[in-house]
Amino acid sequence: MKFSRQTTLRAQASVAGVGVHSGLPVTLTLGPAPVDAGFIFVRTGLEGSDREVQATAEQVIATDFATVLGDRNGPLVSTAEHVLAALRGMGVDNATIEIDGPEVPIMDGSAAAFIAAIDQAGIVTQPAQRRFIQVLKPISVKIGDSFGEIRPHTNGFRVEVEIDFTNPVIGQQAYAFDLNPEGFRREVGRARTFGLMNDVARLWSAGYALGASFDNTVVFDDERLLNTEGLRYADECARHKVLDVIGDLSLAGLPLLGAYRSVRGGHKLNHAVLTALLADRTAWRVVEGEAARRTTRAVGEVGRGIVGGRVAAAFGPDVS
Ligand SMILES: [Zn+2]
Repeated sequence: MKFSRQTTLRAQASVAGVGVHSGLPVTLTLGPAPVDAGFIFVRTGLEGSDREVQATAEQVIATDFATVLGDRNGPLVSTAEHVLAALRGMGVDNATIEIDGPEVPIMDGSAAAFIAAIDQAGIVTQPAQRRFIQVLKPISVKIGDSFGEIRPHTNGFRVEVEIDFTNPVIGQQAYAFDLNPEGFRREVGRARTFGLMNDVARLWSAGYALGASFDNTVVFDDERLLNTEGLRYADECARHKVLDVIGDLSLAGLPLLGAYRSVRGGHKLNHAVLTALLADRTAWRVVEGEAARRTTRAVGEVGRGIVGGRVAAAFGPDVS
């Protein structure tokens, strides 16, 4: 199956869990959405009507402990990044994400449960070409000692993450990943949220991370990993940062053609780089992918027909 066309889910599929910060039970249901819809959160269970929020960078209202989306009436969806990573990572373009509480369930701290839900729902192609945001020039942001950059890249979407913790058990790690669905499923989607015991204890006393436990967070103290089951990968922390990047940068609204690098980064840095990219109209353009011909077509304001360059067909499962 070629996915140079847009995709959505064939059916609905639900997962139930708790929010990592609120500790409250929540059910999340993924479902189909029309061509060009992108990812739309639908918050149910409120007094009055359901509220929708588009998963785009403009709707980000906080990035302190997680990525929070909302509108002028306040926050609507917290911890949006892992389910968004699963959708983008698995090659879904358009989907609704219905939740009956304020926070996406943390599940096991990775994207595995959302990948399973996508598998259960099934992916179908839609009668429209997939569109991409192609990065045309490097954009970088420095925040304190963290550094993020997105740059042109000829082959799909690449993420390079470096972390450097004073905690000796985590230490320095680097992980680079060229986005494709099978790689995402195997190498990145299962990497769990992590934290330091001191930080978790501090968050608990401040009323945060109330749902955090060894069931959904990899926890380190200064000497060792505290989870008895061990790590899923030796560099699970760096891989989880890659997962977060894929989710946070899905807020571009379209898949990216470019390479993103972060050093000591997090949600705040990811959001800052994406916002800086989108704000510079000379730094990107929208293109349509045509996997079979290995060309791209510029569309929208910059539409000049088929572009001669051999921009590789993109992110995407043109694996069969
Ligand atoms: Zn995360």
